[in-house]
Amino acid sequence: MNQWEVVIGIETHAQLATVSKIFSGASTAFGAEPNTQACAVDLALPGVLPVLNRKAVDCAIRFGLSIGAEVATKSVFARKNYFYPDLPKGYQISQMDLPVVVGGSLTLQVGSGDKAYEKVVRLTRAHLEEDAGKSLHEDFHGKSGIDLNRAGTPLLEIVSEPDMRSSDEAVAYAKALHGLVRWIGICDGNMQEGSFRCDANVSVRPKGQLEFGTRREIKNLNSFRFLKEAIDYEVQWQINEIEEGRKIQQATVLFDPDTGETRTMRTKEDAHDYRYFPDPDLLPLLIGADWIERIKDELPELPAQKRERFTNVLGLSAYDAGTLTASQEIAAYFEAMVAVAGQGNAKPCANWVMVDLAARLNKAGREMAESPVSAQQLGGLILRIADNTISNNIAKKVFEALWNGEGATADEIIDKQGLKQITDSGAIEALVDEVLAANAANVAEFKAGKEKAFNALVGQVMKAAKGKANPQQVNDLLKKKLAG
Ligand code: ADP
Ligand code: MG
Repeated sequence: MNQWEVVIGIETHAQLATVSKIFSGASTAFGAEPNTQACAVDLALPGVLPVLNRKAVDCAIRFGLSIGAEVATKSVFARKNYFYPDLPKGYQISQMDLPVVVGGSLTLQVGSGDKAYEKVVRLTRAHLEEDAGKSLHEDFHGKSGIDLNRAGTPLLEIVSEPDMRSSDEAVAYAKALHGLVRWIGICDGNMQEGSFRCDANVSVRPKGQLEFGTRREIKNLNSFRFLKEAIDYEVQWQINEIEEGRKIQQATVLFDPDTGETRTMRTKEDAHDYRYFPDPDLLPLLIGADWIERIKDELPELPAQKRERFTNVLGLSAYDAGTLTASQEIAAYFEAMVAVAGQGNAKPCANWVMVDLAARLNKAGREMAESPVSAQQLGGLILRIADNTISNNIAKKVFEALWNGEGATADEIIDKQGLKQITDSGAIEALVDEVLAANAANVAEFKAGKEKAFNALVGQVMKAAKGKANPQQVNDLLKKKLAG
């Protein structure tokens, strides 16, 4: 598989977090009884006219600004004509020649550890459109039914350039985009409910060839895992086809999560099959500089800006900064912690958020927002590790006690439970002497060159100190005594 290069471009449909639909006043809330949220406009009854939802445009502008794109001063809604039972008008209102957002880029962190690298993916465009309804084939009195609640829900279709070269890059892109749309509050990102779905366009070409191969488009991938599995399968399938002498046909395919395979849905239609033309019911969308300015003023600090601050000002690695800016919740938690523990402790703060807290939340099946340990409490704990009041090991105990509500602050718990580290060298020396006297066998082994015996002695001293002796002092004292 070495001589093949993978090329991937992704189209994403992000459902915009507006209260009402893009061209009608009907609610967009998820989970209502079928067809209770489809008004005359969504049903395409004769004589109705669409009215554009200003909030949907706000969302598109927010997105454009956050990826450094051009927000078009004039964009046009077009009719995309096709026939399908879930599309009452017989066309979808979308944007074709003049989309609302043009260009821009997204910077991703791919991989972790030594293999981590940064990658810039260019965006082609993002345009506003309406969603279709939904066909229900299961559990519907043995028949198929149509639910039009989703018809007219505002979507932003975000199209990338074919810049990705592996399924890992594709997943990193989808995750970065998912993080961004939630960060700027334009999409709830709920993938199970279909608020964020990706189509992956995949082709392969011999390494070194400039021309792209023929692509196949995998539709509607609604989890990062499926995105990766579908691309990996598809790539292998295409390589096999070519190596066995067959040509790839441009096609739209579906991924079956049960079998892990992709299969052809239809050979790909071209744009002209849709007979696009400007929708005569809607005026061109004009966006003035003042509108863009207003949205710019409302934008929060973006993940990319925060990442830069975390690496440049706080000295974190690109990987840490990337993890801590995966969502606004985690970034806010980390920053509130640093506000208490001080910038000099940014690194331990990062570790505690990404490792200890994340693992504990995971174990309890909770989100960051539901953490029983607040950022202020955890920041306070970091301070006590930093000033040697407690060791890292004891800190884990204090953390668990905070989690269980055994005290309001780390200080209170350390105090109440007598967890303060023993740093008095006289007290430690007494413990060391005691242990050396009682473990003559270990001492002899160590003197005979057995390194492991030393660790056993350290363990004994820590046990005698109930874990509270300063580990460094214990080490130093033991070494001194054993050498003497
Ligand atoms: P359409 O509008 O017909 O779906 P586009 O040309 O707009 O087609 O491309 C759709 C997506 O496919 C884009 O994300 C683009 O980057 C990607 N793409 C285009 N050509 C290729 C290719 N040869 N291999 C992989 N992806 C591609
Ligand atoms: Mg497309």
